[in-house]
Amino acid sequence: METWQHLLGDSITTLEQLRHRLGCDDTALGQVIANFPLRINPYFANLIQSPGDPIWRQVVPDLAELHDDVCPADPLGEEQLSPVPNLVHKYPDRVLFLVSGSCAAYCRFCTRKRMVGSRDMCIGTANLRAGYAYLRDHPEVREVLLSGGDPLLLADEVIGEILSSLRAIPSIEVIRIGTRVPSVLPMRVTARLTDILRQHHPLYINTHFNHPMEITEEAARACAMLADAGIPLGCQTVLLRGVNDDAGTIAQLMTMLLRIRVKPYYLFQADLTRGTNHFRTHSSVGIAIMKRLYGHISGMAIPTLALDAPGGKGKIPLTPSYIVQSGDELRFTNFRGEPCTYPEAGEAV
Ligand SMILES: *Cc1c(COP(=O)(O)O)cnc(C)c1O
Ligand code: SF4
Repeated sequence: METWQHLLGDSITTLEQLRHRLGCDDTALGQVIANFPLRINPYFANLIQSPGDPIWRQVVPDLAELHDDVCPADPLGEEQLSPVPNLVHKYPDRVLFLVSGSCAAYCRFCTRKRMVGSRDMCIGTANLRAGYAYLRDHPEVREVLLSGGDPLLLADEVIGEILSSLRAIPSIEVIRIGTRVPSVLPMRVTARLTDILRQHHPLYINTHFNHPMEITEEAARACAMLADAGIPLGCQTVLLRGVNDDAGTIAQLMTMLLRIRVKPYYLFQADLTRGTNHFRTHSSVGIAIMKRLYGHISGMAIPTLALDAPGGKGKIPLTPSYIVQSGDELRFTNFRGEPCTYPEAGEAV
């Protein structure tokens, strides 16, 4: 079997390879690649069934990326919220620590499109040390979210070192890893990796699946290996125009995730990132999709729809409204649209 490193080395990264292997012959795409990095590894490329399908749209460059004058480059204000480079402290008790600059495939809709895969995102030992020092000085931080880029693209030993260093800080209770590896390069999940990860509990992993076509036998095997190592698995899906912006696709994805032992966590409204405006949907689309999920599929399969507010204001849940009227009794409609009432008790707050 080919190793994950070989597969990664055999990725599509140039215009020439796009032409050869996917038949894209628009030379104007060279301009897109010059602005935003391209990487499609052969595993993910093989999931493409036809040009323009949901896998294709996630990773094949599009001229629309150059014609986005709506979105800013750093929508979440992450740079202002970084007390040390690559560490974002936005919420009281948890931080986001960007420990890797590369991914197994570059998603065209990526929030950190401006930096992933670029030289600006080389994260060295000095950066990591500065992050650990900050965490030692801030014992109110109970949870560290490792992201990037994709932390699981780092070498096994580096992942082990980062986890051990965090575990040596007594105030860090929980470690969370955000990774797209189980969906874009599941072969990266090896027995050696899971042996390292399982030494650092409580450890959680949030995966990132966007379409039922990503739930393959290989992805299921990778998730089973992680779950068997005692790691609870969640999923952060991005709602993307032309990829998964309909209730049938999302319902199928969420129920399939549950079957491969992944508990859907967030469904994100796409961020305002320069070069990704063509992926954004109207907020009512997501809310309507959620209405088609609640009550219709297992509550276990239902994520929270949220948007990450511009300027670093944090995640805002978007929930369909069921309440029609409040007062002495609460009037609402159920998931079938039937009117119901519930008599109130106690005092309102
Ligand atoms: C999303 C995010 C978190 C985690 O938020 P949860 O709601 O706990 O998943 C933490 N820090 C930053 C900067 C984030 O963007
Ligand atoms: S895997 Fe995540 S960080 Fe990497 S390109 Fe995709 S969305 Fe961005």
